[in-house]
Amino acid sequence: MSTHNDASHPVIIAGAGIGGLTAALALRQNGHSVIVMEKARELSEVGAGLQLSPNACSVLDRLDVLSSLKATAYAPENLRLWSGETGRQLARVRLGAYLEQRHGQPFWVIHRADLQRALLEKVHQTPGVDLRLGAEILDLSPSPYGHLVCIYQTDEINGNLDCKALIGADGVWSKTRKLVPAHQNAHFSGQVAYRATIPLDKLPARWSGDSGLWLHKNSHLVHYPIRGGRELNIVALAEEAWQDETWSAREEKETVLRVFKNWPADVRNLLKASETWLKWALCSVDASGPWTHGHLALMGDAAHAMLPYMAQGAGMAIEDAAILAKHLPADVENVPAALRAFERERKPRVKRVQETASGNARTFHLSGIPAFARDTVLRWSKPEALTARYDDIYGWTPER
Ligand SMILES: Cc1cc2nc3c(=O)[nH]c(=O)nc-3n(C[C@H](O)[C@H](O)[C@H](O)COP(=O)(O)OP(=O)(O)OC[C@H]3O[C@@H](n4cnc5c(N)ncnc54)[C@H](O)[C@@H]3O)c2cc1C
Repeated sequence: MSTHNDASHPVIIAGAGIGGLTAALALRQNGHSVIVMEKARELSEVGAGLQLSPNACSVLDRLDVLSSLKATAYAPENLRLWSGETGRQLARVRLGAYLEQRHGQPFWVIHRADLQRALLEKVHQTPGVDLRLGAEILDLSPSPYGHLVCIYQTDEINGNLDCKALIGADGVWSKTRKLVPAHQNAHFSGQVAYRATIPLDKLPARWSGDSGLWLHKNSHLVHYPIRGGRELNIVALAEEAWQDETWSAREEKETVLRVFKNWPADVRNLLKASETWLKWALCSVDASGPWTHGHLALMGDAAHAMLPYMAQGAGMAIEDAAILAKHLPADVENVPAALRAFERERKPRVKRVQETASGNARTFHLSGIPAFARDTVLRWSKPEALTARYDDIYGWTPER
């Protein structure tokens, strides 16, 4: 009789986002047969920029995906910090060649769609990984015959498939998370991100090259080139009670300009340069909650969505994929124990990064005397010292 751990059964992954596709490649490298079920009928170009720091790049390198990203990624030499009130530069953080030399992997910024496309191409080239679009995972349950059955639906059918394990990589509004008893729910942060991309040849030269982080009372703005340096990615974040569960809500340019009305003229001119704005409600999922239940493990945003103030959402999902594969060899005998070992290894690090992001959220939006104190410290800080503050995050490799 077959058992739950029958080697012939696939590992099923819910979600063909950044974490799910990376996990598919990592698990296949271990010899598993993998099925990725993605609820979207097509993987469209929704979204904007992501930051890929050396820790994430080291995983992508091992999976032979990194080199194919080079043409669409961009490596800013510095992150420049600016006061959104005075328009003056506060500090510089060294990235680029300096960070690559420090950690042995690049620091890249990239459009999410370019990263997803590269992962997809690799998945399509990899026998043993089967991607099914338009298939939403609903449940996981044992069958009366000793199999473990994953239940899904498409437009045409309600289906079920035997599997060895189910990996919930279905993002911040995860359905598989609801299958884990005592799970944490996604929590709206009271902050929204307005996002746009603009061709750089339509903008003044000051927006090319380095990344920028502008700090203001209750708001901040990040920009960096993507698409090999051809487009500028802009993320303007503000405190607002709006809630929505999509990545593609549209917003009027006039609204963005109203929210950022007290900002320097240069920045407002930049905001005016895009007619198209997307608006996202920022959510997090407390990483302290349970990530596993029997043969099910959550990863990426499903387990621990975080605010983007450390730009590590994609990075942590990519790291999860490598460590999940490490604990789940093809001949694994006790899948629930292996998944618990994955959770045990990942949780402390992910919690630390999540806390760092929450700390940045407070610091970025200070006003009055605390903001003055922050700016003074930044002005006196050496670019290399500001880079070194995140050695623990950027210096991670899956070999540890
Ligand atoms: C369309 C989209 C655009 C995004 N754009 C950006 C961006 O520009 N910048 C940024 O910083 N972050 C963006 N994100 C979020 C970012 O990708 C994640 O924070 C991070 O990469 C972690 O990835 P993840 O794989 O855990 O989740 P995600 O990348 O969110 O992927 C989750 C996937 O699971 C699928 N899914 C959901 N429920 C089910 C189900 N029940 N069964 C099967 N599939 C399911 C979703 O359709 C999605 O493809 C975006 C996410 C999405 C889905």
